[in-house]
Order: sequence, then C-alpha cells, then structure tokens
Amino acid sequence: MQPEKLAHYEKVLLEQLRERAPHIREDQAAALDASDDGVKDPADLSVIDVNQEIALRLGERESQLVADIDQALLRIKEGSYGTCARCGKVIDERRLEALPTARYDATCQAAIEADNGEDEHATL
Ligand SMILES: [Zn+2]
Repeated sequence: MQPEKLAHYEKVLLEQLRERAPHIREDQAAALDASDDGVKDPADLSVIDVNQEIALRLGERESQLVADIDQALLRIKEGSYGTCARCGKVIDERRLEALPTARYDATCQAAIEADNGEDEHATL
C-alpha cells in the first residue's frame, strides 16, 4: 500500500482510538503504539501496565476495540496493513474505509464467521 494511504489510515485509526478512549493520554497512546515491539528492558514493562490499566477501565468490549485498533496500527508499521491475514489478498479499500481495523477481506471474514463465530482473541 502506498505510504500516503497508510498515513491516511493511521490517522483514521488514531482518531478512532481517541474516540473510544478519550481518557487515554498522549503518552499512553504512544505506549500502546509501541507495545508490540517486544519487551526489551524492565522499563518497557510499564507499557504492559498501561495496557492492563486501559483494559480495566474500558471493560472487555471497548478494550477489544482498542486492541483491534492497536493491532491495525501495528500492521501499518509492519507493512502488512491492507492485506488479508488469511488469504494474502489486498483488502478492498472501500472495506478499509468502512472498517479500518479489518484484518481479513470480505470473503475470508464471511468464511471465518460461518466456520466458528468468533475465535479471534488477543494473544496477550
Ligand atoms: Zn482473504
């Protein structure tokens, strides 16, 4: 995906993150954004605390949404954003506009939902 488009979706996702969790401070949002780089030293453990704190405050449903946004932001960083995690095809941009956290294209999403409802859980 083109860098300008990635930047667009990153902006949209960050806006959604603020809408979902307006009480998250900038530094906490930054910590969330950095949390998937792996824990490299003890100071990074505070990131996990922040995530858990946010999860506790938001409740399960909201924190899942925040986690989805977080994962999408990570995929932007990794360069896998906009590509279906199941079949590897490019996700339709209209779908991404409607659902910027989409991990699968419409075909795979439907297949997954038909298969087993929801088996997507945070890997934490
Ligand atoms: Zn797919």
